Amino acid sequence: MNTRAAKVLAILGPYRSLVRTTLMRATLMLMTAVALSASVTIAQSQPAKMFDVYVIDVEGGNATLFVSPSGESLLMDTGNVPPGAVRDAGRIMAAVKDAGLKQIDHLIITHWHGDHFGGLAELAPQIPVREFIDHGPNVQPGQAADDFLQKMYPQLIADAKHTVAKPGDKIRMGSVDVTVVTSAGELIKAMPGAGGPNSYCANFKPGENNAEDPQSVGIFITYGKFRTAHLGDLTKNKEFELMCPNNRLGSVDVLLGLHHGQASSNSPVLVHALHPRVAIMNDGTRKGGEPETMQTVHSSPGLEDLWQLHFSLLSGQEYTQPGMFIANTVDDPQPAMPIAPLPPPQAGPGTPPPPAHNGTAYWIKLARLTKKHPEPIKFLSHGANAPRPIKRHCRRVAIGSMMRESRRAGDQV
Ligand SMILES: [Zn+2]
Repeated sequence: MNTRAAKVLAILGPYRSLVRTTLMRATLMLMTAVALSASVTIAQSQPAKMFDVYVIDVEGGNATLFVSPSGESLLMDTGNVPPGAVRDAGRIMAAVKDAGLKQIDHLIITHWHGDHFGGLAELAPQIPVREFIDHGPNVQPGQAADDFLQKMYPQLIADAKHTVAKPGDKIRMGSVDVTVVTSAGELIKAMPGAGGPNSYCANFKPGENNAEDPQSVGIFITYGKFRTAHLGDLTKNKEFELMCPNNRLGSVDVLLGLHHGQASSNSPVLVHALHPRVAIMNDGTRKGGEPETMQTVHSSPGLEDLWQLHFSLLSGQEYTQPGMFIANTVDDPQPAMPIAPLPPPQAGPGTPPPPAHNGTAYWIKLARLTKKHPEPIKFLSHGANAPRPIKRHCRRVAIGSMMRESRRAGDQV
């Protein structure tokens, strides 16, 4: 048995202990076995690894894991502060284990908001982190971030490399080329081949922003001909600087994150000009996905699919994606969905909590495409290797064929 087959089979062990006697779980178990046998066949016939991306559900925070074919890893953010930190660190570790990682080579904390650095104190004892990357000091004073930066972060980075990111920096990931394009409000001059005029600039409408979101460390990734970008929580006004009058990034196949789908980001000068084929939104049950963002994304030229980590109450029936493009709902789903979008809640004390989703979570994984296993985006359940059954029927997204095109073109990917 080769190592990949062994790794896939090893997942069955911990998963088996989770299986209870309900019919649903028994069904999942059966599907796991089917998936495992398919995976083993694939492992034997196609041992070559590819670039994997896990978009992990941390309930409207961010945690995105990139794994190069040679096994180098980059984690972007660590989910929420307590009380969500244990849950979110656990979900990140499930993806880390699925990827077979023994360490995180590079960890980017995009900015000092609690939905981005929040799970780090819980995560760090569970897996070594070799390099910490951030934008520098917090510019938006707040108790949680200030306490963390004074008491916890210096200890965490003491035994690791610490890098304050600058635009143009490269993050070593083997055949996966990772470039820092934004950090601390500074912007890359232009990605190679980019820098042409952006026709969407004339209609730009400025937005509001807090101090830290525009500081986000943003990255642009090239793997063969496949391109993707994740700009943290970069807001509209900074998007304008980055993309106008000239588009400094070019285009992408997949746009990741989208600031949880919030309307303070995602201007057409960014989304439309990047011309993504697929967008994957790290939204929450009541965070992001509001009509303005959904209109922009849905009307983006060339968009094939929008995928969401969560059903959002803010989309309403008019703008929500069909459920087969949404990885997660809530622990206690209602039999009927709201027709009108709910307004985003005001931040601060007195805000009622969002609908709970602390049970099983599904990540969205961009993974290899094979003839026998052709779903290029898969919903995989937390801690198991079982595709969520309903998602087996989802429309096939083009990411796999993007990868295949790259390979056909003779790239060493
Ligand atoms: Zn955020």
